[in-house]
Amino acid sequence: MDSVKYTLPESKIPKSWYNIQADLRDAAPPVLHPQSKEPIGPDDLAALFPMELIKQEVSTEREIEIPGPVRDLYRQWRPTPLYRARRLEQALDTPARIYYKYEGVSPSGSHKPNTAVPQAFYNKEAGVTKLTTETGAGQWGSALSMACTFFGMECSVYMVKVSYDQKPYRRGLMESFGANVTPSPSRTTASGRAVLDEHPDSTGSLGIAISEAVEVAATSDDTNYALGSVLNHVLTHQTVIGLETMEQMAAADDEPDILIGCTGGGSNFAGMCFPYVGENLRGEKNYRVIAVEPAACPTLTKGPYAYDYGDTAHLTPIVKMHTLGSGFVPPGFHAGGLRYHGMAPLVSQLHSEGHIEAVAYDQLRTFAAGIQFAQAEGILPAPEANHAVAAAIDEALACKESGESKAILFNLCGHGQFDMQAYLDYNAGKLVAYEYPEEEVAMALSGLPSVSA
Ligand SMILES: *Cc1c(COP(=O)(O)O)cnc(C)c1O
Repeated sequence: MDSVKYTLPESKIPKSWYNIQADLRDAAPPVLHPQSKEPIGPDDLAALFPMELIKQEVSTEREIEIPGPVRDLYRQWRPTPLYRARRLEQALDTPARIYYKYEGVSPSGSHKPNTAVPQAFYNKEAGVTKLTTETGAGQWGSALSMACTFFGMECSVYMVKVSYDQKPYRRGLMESFGANVTPSPSRTTASGRAVLDEHPDSTGSLGIAISEAVEVAATSDDTNYALGSVLNHVLTHQTVIGLETMEQMAAADDEPDILIGCTGGGSNFAGMCFPYVGENLRGEKNYRVIAVEPAACPTLTKGPYAYDYGDTAHLTPIVKMHTLGSGFVPPGFHAGGLRYHGMAPLVSQLHSEGHIEAVAYDQLRTFAAGIQFAQAEGILPAPEANHAVAAAIDEALACKESGESKAILFNLCGHGQFDMQAYLDYNAGKLVAYEYPEEEVAMALSGLPSVSA
């Protein structure tokens, strides 16, 4: 039987985002100033973000209205389709029903524009003319470059050097949207120069690139900073994914038993799963929710839940999260979007309270899953998304074993058409299965800030 596609009319684009802070039992732990280590207030963030986003960051309102101009831009690619992967089910010979929400139909090929557009919008409204940011694999940089050009703003992207060298086509896309792209670490900032003086051959990390972008924004009046994941407001914007999916699952006359998303900073996972986790938190439902991360950067499965810096130079606030240490530079595996040392505080809190599960997969397993998926469904997933695919396949195979027919829903957060070198390398047998870099993590964790709270 053929796979089935569930679409929605444009009128069904959600009118509000869902804010899970309304349903948390315990309030989120306070965010601390990097020097004083005292709780920060809205004014401490005003050098980097517009007030509307700062308000969303700390809001406990369940619904946050999506501004009209943002909904208008969403219409270009939203609602995104939900598929029932019948051909994959057949290939696996499983009684499970497998569904995937496909975010790769956005213009830049992933879920990232769902937050890039509102972030650019609120900054534009606040009179900001330029945004700085970092990008790992290039997905976030592409999305923000696109959003900035929509709103007539400048965009400056610090791109992790290893990706800058490995993925010239992502840079080509960002530059075509008018952005200025700098390989990080660079000599254009004090944080970049400090890294290069110590490690002239540094291939960079997200933590270093964040320091560079934050430094530039903090030291110029007309420039703000934008982050593509991790922060509460980013996760909230992404909930359009899960809210649409709920409508589509209703149209399919089905309900998920298991929800799955890959986690780098946590935003696509949260976007798909938080509206469902909210139902669990309110005692209405009992979904199983699984976050999938790379074995080479196992933040949720191996990192402690502790206060840490968001960046390498310690310019960002200190937040409580699962972390591998802000000095951790993960090995160069092929899922650049999953190479962050930390995890979104909200995802970390839900994990520490036992509301979500986490598993880690190595890249040989995830690429095998991605190729099996592509051969059944015709979409080549982003290497990051392959982590969710692998876990969905394993859950479907577990159903085959037990004879249970569960509904498995995962977020296919992006396509892999800018990641062909990774697939060429995998197909040529050149990828290796990275082990958990225990010693390097131990070293990085020894640098956690001491915080009395
Ligand atoms: C950025 C990115 C990720 C990782 O970020 P999250 O915030 O964890 O979603 C995963 N997949 C794709 C396709 C990405 O672009």
